[in-house]
Amino acid sequence: MSGRIALIGVPTDINSSFMRGPAGAPPVIRAMLNSDKGNAATELGGSLDNEIEMIEYGDLSLMEENTVDDGIIHAAVAESCARGEIPLILGGDHSITFPVVSAIAERYGPVQILHIDAHPDLYDELDGNRRSHASPFARIMERRLASRLVQVGIRTLNDHQRAQAREFGVEIVPMRDFTVDRVPILGGPLYISIDVDGIDPSAAPGVSHHEPGGLTVREVVDLLARQTAPIVGIDVVEFNPDRDVVEMTASVAAKLVKEAAALAVRNRH
Ligand code: MN
Ligand code: MN
Repeated sequence: MSGRIALIGVPTDINSSFMRGPAGAPPVIRAMLNSDKGNAATELGGSLDNEIEMIEYGDLSLMEENTVDDGIIHAAVAESCARGEIPLILGGDHSITFPVVSAIAERYGPVQILHIDAHPDLYDELDGNRRSHASPFARIMERRLASRLVQVGIRTLNDHQRAQAREFGVEIVPMRDFTVDRVPILGGPLYISIDVDGIDPSAAPGVSHHEPGGLTVREVVDLLARQTAPIVGIDVVEFNPDRDVVEMTASVAAKLVKEAAALAVRNRH
């Protein structure tokens, strides 16, 4: 693996349940990453204009009207893996994680997943949609694409999702019990999925579903920094620019992209 990071935008929110908007996120995150307002340095070591080589692939052209283009997403990620890159996916809503992880697991075998979110996203279906953004981890686990799934920041567990978690052997670090050192150190190949609504809405208001009582950006950076396994893919999803306030969430999303990329570079060997 070359360890180069491939930045790929997946602009879809067709499987969102409550409101649309995350399809507009990739260009906004990209603009923030490239803005003079920001800083190329990362906390985990390396800088975007130096050690961290990010290759910009732009946004996928999705043909969708009523269904998400899983084939197009899967193919783009498979090609990136074949080039020896680490795909870093800018969502889009969380439904995209299923085709992304299926392409990665085809390449590397079952992955271990560190999933940051207010929601477990384990619904068998939501409003009749099995590809809902509330369901990607049910699809991933029933196909055995992940050997381990650890969810952090969860604060919306209901009976159905608790039963799904039990059936699939999902390990949950609920927000109620959260401390950074309760997050297990996973093995590789490691996939990291960051739903921006895992962060408290006071810091990241630009999401479709506000769930107060969430993680701080500090906590997320710290729990990422403790992970040591080689990383095979990353996504940052569910940023909804329509709901943002003075670019707060754009800067949080860009920060998380930057630090996750730095972690992938650091853990390469
Ligand atoms: Mn969520
Ligand atoms: Mn989610």
